Amino acid sequence: MAYCDLHTHSYYSFDGKIHPFDLCAEACRHGLFGVAMSEHYDFYADDSFIYYSLFAEGRDPMLARMRSLYGDRLKIWKGIELGQPHYNLKSYRELMRDLKCDLIIGSIHDLPPKENIYRIDYRSQADCDRVFECYFAEMAKMIELCDFDILAHLDYPVRVMGGAFEYAPELQRYESLIRPILRTCAEREIALEVNTAGLHKWQKRPGPAIWVLEAYKAYGGQRITMGSDAHRIEHVARGFDWAADMIREAGFDHITYFEERRPKFIRI
Ligand SMILES: [Zn+2]
Ligand SMILES: [Zn+2]
Repeated sequence: MAYCDLHTHSYYSFDGKIHPFDLCAEACRHGLFGVAMSEHYDFYADDSFIYYSLFAEGRDPMLARMRSLYGDRLKIWKGIELGQPHYNLKSYRELMRDLKCDLIIGSIHDLPPKENIYRIDYRSQADCDRVFECYFAEMAKMIELCDFDILAHLDYPVRVMGGAFEYAPELQRYESLIRPILRTCAEREIALEVNTAGLHKWQKRPGPAIWVLEAYKAYGGQRITMGSDAHRIEHVARGFDWAADMIREAGFDHITYFEERRPKFIRI
């Protein structure tokens, strides 16, 4: 089956451990027809994230070397994952002015001003409600204010809320916050990502849930992407058969990828 992984982090991301050459070899080993290096760029009001800029010069030459090595055997895309870009619109606009890439992912990793969703101590339903309510409010603002191609890991906080629950919390509790986001994504033709990183986190499955994909489709959304969010080589393309089953069950017969920010579709 022809899949592509649009969400990976090489060592050009602050928390990525994968050598770009290894990424390509692993993508081929899984039979992918394409892979994107979508490195982190997180935004904060104090401009404290500098990692992306520190390694900006190495990235394009590396990409060119990989593309010349692999030729037609593997499509290799340049991506970027913007974390909460609306927290610093000035820096976001500066980055976007010269940014040339195949795909832009939009994500929320931190609640304002700088509360890392991964590091919160989730002890009760009230803790989780506070995070999700704020998380989806920020996601709605990001979609309103910023330009990107793919909305990443909509259920991201679920990955780490294990302390407060015996089982994964059901996102339907927040359906009234999620539906307007899905409607806007469908209208703006922003793709929705099925992210498989949850498989090796606490939730133990790809996300978001099928009803979320169905709701996006019902609003007219047509663009679904697959991303492993791999930071380590063993997670590249992990769980893609499961993700494809979910996508098909939600009524889609194709997935989307991007080249120079133009969408392309392939049947699954
Ligand atoms: Zn992310
Ligand atoms: Zn990521």
